[in-house]
Amino acid sequence: MAENTATPIRVLVVDDEPEVRDAYRQILLENEVTQEMVGFRELRSRLFKRTPAEAARERSVARTGTIEPVFCDGAQAAVNLVKESLARNEPFAVVFLDVRMPPGPDGVWAATQIREVDPAVEIVICTAYSDADPCEIGGLVPPEDKLSYLQKPFHPHEIRQMTIALSSKWRAERRIVRLAYFDTLTGLPNREQSHNRLVGALQAAKDNKRTLAVLYLDLDNFKRVNDTLGHAVGDQLLCVVAERLRSSLRYGGDSAPAGTADSARPGDIARLGGDEFLVLLPNLRAASDAGAVADRLIMALREPVQLALNSLVVTPSVGIALFPQDGEDAETLLRNADLAMYFAKRRTPGTFAFFDASMNANALHRFTVEEQLRGAMGRDEFTLQYQPQFDVRTGSVSGMEALLRWTNAELGSISPVEFIPVAEETGLIHAIGKWVLLSACQQARKWRDEGLPFKRIAVNVSGRQFALAEYPAEVAAILEATGLEPSALELEITESVVMADEVWAQKAINELKQLGISLAIDDFGTGYSSFGRLRHFSVDRLKIDRSFVSSVTECSDDRAIAAAIIAMSRSLRINVTAEGVENFPQLAFLQEQDCQDAQGFLLSRPLPGDAASDLLRRVNDLSDESRSQRLKVIIG
Ligand code: C2E
Ligand code: MG
Ligand code: MG
Repeated sequence: MAENTATPIRVLVVDDEPEVRDAYRQILLENEVTQEMVGFRELRSRLFKRTPAEAARERSVARTGTIEPVFCDGAQAAVNLVKESLARNEPFAVVFLDVRMPPGPDGVWAATQIREVDPAVEIVICTAYSDADPCEIGGLVPPEDKLSYLQKPFHPHEIRQMTIALSSKWRAERRIVRLAYFDTLTGLPNREQSHNRLVGALQAAKDNKRTLAVLYLDLDNFKRVNDTLGHAVGDQLLCVVAERLRSSLRYGGDSAPAGTADSARPGDIARLGGDEFLVLLPNLRAASDAGAVADRLIMALREPVQLALNSLVVTPSVGIALFPQDGEDAETLLRNADLAMYFAKRRTPGTFAFFDASMNANALHRFTVEEQLRGAMGRDEFTLQYQPQFDVRTGSVSGMEALLRWTNAELGSISPVEFIPVAEETGLIHAIGKWVLLSACQQARKWRDEGLPFKRIAVNVSGRQFALAEYPAEVAAILEATGLEPSALELEITESVVMADEVWAQKAINELKQLGISLAIDDFGTGYSSFGRLRHFSVDRLKIDRSFVSSVTECSDDRAIAAAIIAMSRSLRINVTAEGVENFPQLAFLQEQDCQDAQGFLLSRPLPGDAASDLLRRVNDLSDESRSQRLKVIIG
């Protein structure tokens, strides 16, 4: 990709007279002869004395490299040649154009056409007549600094010097363009350039009614490579990635569907910055072909890379947007391909996804949630509600579960089912979880101080918090700060968190238990734990998931499962709470099975702090009533 002075300078000579073309040939090819004869001349100069003129010529050849002249005799042929060589990425540096070439179009016409095709080429207008007005032609073929004039008959030195001077200027300008439009690390086109290409390709796809695909690639684990092995290794890795993308697009794979391999030329890859790349497939037969290309790129990158004694595996996530269905302009297509990439990465890193319209609304919402969540603590947008847990055998309140609520000015109130995963993904859960535990313990302490009949406060713990080695110390500090006795706190962790890493879970559970608090397994029955394995964990309570409770009256399997969980827990001396009790038949079933605790909308919805305090007071006043009377008062 990098151009050096050894690359020949291509010069186009356009003149209808064979003798004139011969004259050019002699002047321009002299260099080539000189090059071929360098060895011979060196020998000669050692044997004989060189003339100063010869020595100077050899020096200038060494500086400028070889010249590759191409000749043609007409204006139309010249325009075609410029187009073709540009398409091959072998552009001309200089075009010498005769003005009069009867009977075809003249040199000025050719100059305007050539300028439109190639804005960078240096054009020299050659004429024997003084009828060509430089100002006039300059207006027709801008810019003026890329247009020169040569009066016939010319001196050979004029041609030589002009070729050398103009091609040096052309090369210098090309280098500057490269810096502006190409990524210096990988040599791939940069964001700016890829945007221009996309705009051009879109126009062509529109004109020819063709399908075009934009593939947005993002490496999944690049940041880790950069962080752990340093930026130099990161840079090397990016170069390897660029080369693999280039070669797998250039040659296609065995699995490449026909018609796609050569539709993606090497120039259609770009590096957008960081670890993001773009691939343009300008000429697709079928949308599914874009998926096949994405697959091929993923496979090519997946091969381990050997760098700095490390064997690295990088996988890209790829998003695909298609013209015309996913967008008609460059910005929309890029944005949608980026969104699709984001979805692919979230779902399964190292795969590709086609854009679909639902991604827009979902993703936008997800971004807003994340954005707003970042400032939510500072704006004091969180509150806690408390859902009572009842002892269905006595009708008393055995506990209160603290449930987090978030109300945001832009989004309204958002369910924890939606924002907790975002908080976990962004790491915000640690600060939020700490606030929840502190606030819940403060509230519990207050109820205790008021002498309300209340055994424990239950607080949900995210797997992310539970996985931190310092979490038990954090819990201990909060208990200490609030003065709540440890036995009044129960932490709820989900089954999947325990099963994710049993060894770690056992250790963490033991440490927490040493503080004197209780532990409950939340949403029990939805994961894949068994009683056999759970026995090894010293948990105090299982909370039967709502999905079983809600179908105990309809589905005999679920009824059997719920009954079995209750019976086996009793024999293992583990407490049971049934979650999500919504109606009397469900409550009756639980009482039949002698289930101890229940929680659900039938008994009470989650309540704001004040309302929860009121409920506790009401229950307190009922101390002498029977169980059914108590429940009646509570349920209303
Ligand atoms: P969870 O811990 O299983 O909490 C019980 C959820 O079931 C609560 O939803 C509660 O309002 C709801 N629920 C209770 N009874 C019934 C009922 O009879 N019918 C129905 N349909 N639903 C009932 P919520 O408050 O939306 O919380 C959902 C989940 O969000 C919680 O499930 C918990 O996993 C998580 N969560 C809530 N607060 C926190 C928190 O402070 N920290 C963490 N890490 N997670 C929390
Ligand atoms: Mg819970
Ligand atoms: Mg639950």
